[in-house]
Amino acid sequence: MSHEIADEFLLDYASGAAPAPVGLLVASHLALNAEARRNYRRLEAVGGALLEAIEPVAPAPDSLARILARIDAGDGIETRTRPAVARRAGGLPAPIAALVPNGLDALAWRRLARGVEEAALDVEGDPQRKTKLLRIAAGRAIPKHTHRGLEMTLVLEGGFADEAGHYDRGDVCVTDESIEHQPTADRARDCLCLAVFDAPIRLTGPFLRLLNPFLPR
Ligand code: ZN
Repeated sequence: MSHEIADEFLLDYASGAAPAPVGLLVASHLALNAEARRNYRRLEAVGGALLEAIEPVAPAPDSLARILARIDAGDGIETRTRPAVARRAGGLPAPIAALVPNGLDALAWRRLARGVEEAALDVEGDPQRKTKLLRIAAGRAIPKHTHRGLEMTLVLEGGFADEAGHYDRGDVCVTDESIEHQPTADRARDCLCLAVFDAPIRLTGPFLRLLNPFLPR
């Protein structure tokens, strides 16, 4: 089973209406996931005419504009013609690699739970959302939790499973207030994810340590 992002997010991204962190996640998803690229091209074909008929949207924040410019330059989603470009920097999709110029080890990693670390990414233009890289050691789990808003997770390396299914590299898991889950990394290898949070998650399991993406660094 594959996990592509819903059309509504692709449409927001195509029109420039997606918040910068969501745009980063969608651009990276498109770079890694062929099925998502097919969906995107289908929507572009259908939506091109529609977009011409509606009022223009507000300009995207600078950071998103830069990401889109990189994609236009062939760094991002057009991996059919330039796969080597999109896969450089240790396998990170180009939009994320651009935010990690000195490599993953240079980031300020913080331990959240046993075998689980996070590092904040500096995505401009959206003071509300939090954007993180999550590293889950092979076989380890993020403590069981639910959500106070949207949580969007893109698998960059490895894979994880939760109550809803299994997610491989390039898959997106979108959850909200109605979902309680415990994402667990595959046993074979460590899992690296990009995660965007609307609001703090809420732990529901027997864990004392607070896993809160909104705590001050
Ligand atoms: Zn979650």
